[in-house]
Amino acid sequence: MQNTNPAIENRAPALEQRFVQLFGESPRIYQAPGRVNLIGEHTDYNDGFVMPAAIGFYTRAAVAPRPDRKLAIHSQNYSEQVEFDLDHLPATGAGHWSDYVVGVVKMLVRSGKKLGGVNLLVDGNVPLGAGLSSSASIEVAVGYALLDLAESSTITRTQLALLCQRAENEFVGARCGIMDQFVASHGKRGQALLLDCRSLDLEYRQLPSPEVAVLAICNTMVKHSIAKGEYNQRRAECEAGVRALSKYLPQVRALRDVTPEDLERYGHELPEVVVRRCRHVIGENARVLKAAAALERGDLPAFGNLMLESHRSLRDDFAVSCSELDLMVELAEGVEGVYGTRMTGGGFGGCTIALVQAGCVEVFRRTVREGYERSTGRTPEIYICAAADGVDRIA
Ligand code: ADP
Ligand code: MG
Repeated sequence: MQNTNPAIENRAPALEQRFVQLFGESPRIYQAPGRVNLIGEHTDYNDGFVMPAAIGFYTRAAVAPRPDRKLAIHSQNYSEQVEFDLDHLPATGAGHWSDYVVGVVKMLVRSGKKLGGVNLLVDGNVPLGAGLSSSASIEVAVGYALLDLAESSTITRTQLALLCQRAENEFVGARCGIMDQFVASHGKRGQALLLDCRSLDLEYRQLPSPEVAVLAICNTMVKHSIAKGEYNQRRAECEAGVRALSKYLPQVRALRDVTPEDLERYGHELPEVVVRRCRHVIGENARVLKAAAALERGDLPAFGNLMLESHRSLRDDFAVSCSELDLMVELAEGVEGVYGTRMTGGGFGGCTIALVQAGCVEVFRRTVREGYERSTGRTPEIYICAAADGVDRIA
């Protein structure tokens, strides 16, 4: 299904024109999607399960080779162009948007790819910094584009995702899991991904057709600055849980290996706050698997209940929600035709996701927008999406 958000239109012809204007020739054009996580939050770095879907918001990369060893990168979003010498790329990121591109180029070179000079134009309609992973979408679009241009077909989509993750971890300096790049690479129209973050085993689960239910993403339009510090602290708390539990359960390498019964039995040996963090991760992994089973049965009410349980656990046990996310969830929960809703992404701002009966979308939009505006003075953005395909060449 096409996106029903009027702000989203096909910008490929405009991108081609812009490329010609900037660089004087016609490009090949590629796109990679943003993503939303339906359930399975803060489980990825605990070797657990996640269930995301790619969404019909994309970063497009227009590319053409150039005869020298230069890498010229223009971002339409930032109206800015920067240039690098392929033989003298910086060692680490500079805190600039181009880090996401240069990091991928560096990892491609490191993996042995012979790259020539390129002109590159990027343009995205994934909201930047909203938790819908514009970062993975730019990385994967650029990585795929450069590999295709170099006629290097030996790298798989999974290898591409891993390479882009490494670029974000090591070059940009952001400690992200594999989920985002994996979805941008492997997304499939109409399907959610069920990803085992330990083995990288991937299965697809059919989502309801857009005539039945849609994904409504509500952007709180806030991003609290404590997010990064809290994220690192949660990771440390999960690691502390693993260290303590593995004294009693030597087979435990990650919270993925801990059952609710294990936690019940040995939890008193752990600080109370660590028990709550572990309880979230262990419960959330189980919820992802139950959610996958619910989709197989076409049981949307059960799926929705798991979303609501996930939110409560993220709010109360993992403590990564915030008043804006809680308000958005509360407002959405009260609307008729909403199967379930939860915060999505790392937390402390960003977006919520709701599964909404198709016929109830307009009332949903209005109710959530008005309620959120009334309480916060901010106008939320609401994106109605269907699951989309992963990275591909489009022109
Ligand atoms: P998210 O992935 O949730 O959108 P991040 O902070 O991880 O947020 O990534 C956002 C950053 O990715 C932007 O600040 C910018 O540096 C880079 N980025 C994403 N899309 C583009 C684009 N079209 N042009 C330039 N930079 C982009
Ligand atoms: Mg990101």
